[in-house]
Amino acid sequence: MLNVEVLTLFPELVEQVVRHGIPRKAVECGALALRTRNFRDYGAAGDRRVDDRTYGGGPGMVLDAESLARTVAAAKAALGPAAKVIALSPQGARLDQHWVRRLATETALVLVCGRYEGWDERAAGLFDAEVSLGDFVLSGGELAAMAMVDALARLLPGAVGDQASVEYDSFSAGLLDHPHYTRPEVWRGAAVPEVLLSGDHARIARWRLKQALGVTWLKRPDLLADLELSDEQRRLLREYIAETGMDQPGAAAPAKD
Ligand code: SAH
Repeated sequence: MLNVEVLTLFPELVEQVVRHGIPRKAVECGALALRTRNFRDYGAAGDRRVDDRTYGGGPGMVLDAESLARTVAAAKAALGPAAKVIALSPQGARLDQHWVRRLATETALVLVCGRYEGWDERAAGLFDAEVSLGDFVLSGGELAAMAMVDALARLLPGAVGDQASVEYDSFSAGLLDHPHYTRPEVWRGAAVPEVLLSGDHARIARWRLKQALGVTWLKRPDLLADLELSDEQRRLLREYIAETGMDQPGAAAPAKD
């Protein structure tokens, strides 16, 4: 059971994440509980104002440290001292599947969503970690927290009907997922690879592994560089490269400007 509290100025936005799909199922089956807490209910100024101007001048407002500290304290009081406090920040460690897997084993998480220019730097000591969704700037931490809750929910037991589907996902084994097909067998002249209709499970497993290695080589060669491939995996990748006639990894990566 994972208890998550999201600290935010926009609780009604965050709550949407458990209204649909797998996160909703995770809540319904008791694997996940999501609560929100509004900084404004803990405003240090005695009103609902929790932001102030930035010292040194310049544009933008900052969440004040005391309101944030009080909100974090309330969340920890509700969840227990073991709760890990994670702040969403573009300056944090990039969220990846390793992080998600590690966090999914926790029992309680407090996710702190900044707004405006972020929070008073002196509040940063309240966080066990800072996590970023990527190298771009959102206007608030809510979408990042929602993305985290979604990624966590699908790893919790009971949330996804067939856990095998999660194990084969992109990144689970350090590789991207193999391609998937569904009916019809021929769509606008393009046929489903014959092996997938063969019923030969060993051949299908070999094909899928080869494709996973191949698409990772094509689209994310940086991921492959981090892996120690077995002899069999190396052989499969060589086959893939020979079959597709490509000799340059990263050929399918999106062009950077
Ligand atoms: N001035 C800050 C950005 C503030 S953006 C800076 O440049 O570091 C406002 C809030 O949006 C942040 O406090 C953070 O909670 C959230 N946020 C913005 N980009 C994010 C990202 N890439 N990942 C996670 N949270 C992000």
